[in-house]
Amino acid sequence: MKHTISLVALLTAFPAFAESTRQLDAHKHGVGTLNIAVDGTAVVMELEAPGADIVGFEHAAENDVDKDAVDAAVALLSAPLDLFVMPEAAGCIVAEAHAELESEAMHSEHGEDNHADEGHDDHADEDHADESGHTEFHAEYALTCENPDALTEITFAYFNTFPNAKEVEVQLLTASGAQAYEVERDTPVLGLGR
Ligand SMILES: [Zn+2]
Repeated sequence: MKHTISLVALLTAFPAFAESTRQLDAHKHGVGTLNIAVDGTAVVMELEAPGADIVGFEHAAENDVDKDAVDAAVALLSAPLDLFVMPEAAGCIVAEAHAELESEAMHSEHGEDNHADEGHDDHADEDHADESGHTEFHAEYALTCENPDALTEITFAYFNTFPNAKEVEVQLLTASGAQAYEVERDTPVLGLGR
């Protein structure tokens, strides 16, 4: 892993990576963010997307349908090259991929609630009522692209996979500097013009 040190440098160059706490309620439904850092053959990406965009809800998963939706989304988000399609000539492969759901209040994962004893339990299971918090899916990817010069564009199949997503704000960091783009559902191709 000869790239390790420079990748760390690239990652910390993104404000989002440096901040340890983020405001989930600062996100805008329909709008995700994708940071891309290209360093030689190494490409690192970080995706943040509102739960609303990915699974269509942001309340805590309370039933099997919700949980299955979250699990399915995490699986989809763990296959970056199916979401962000790179030219075949670039020869990109996934070295690492990690996706997870982050919620505002990381309240304990009480997987099973005993509805049987409703009468007895007078201490509030009912503060579920104010669960108006936001959730975000967060994914990190490390790719290796054999021929990075051929990495001329990225097609966002992401929009096909996630019908509620409307836009992705992209920050691209390369040896020649940082650039910002907005990739929208209507024109889901990011030209890297390098
Ligand atoms: Zn939200």
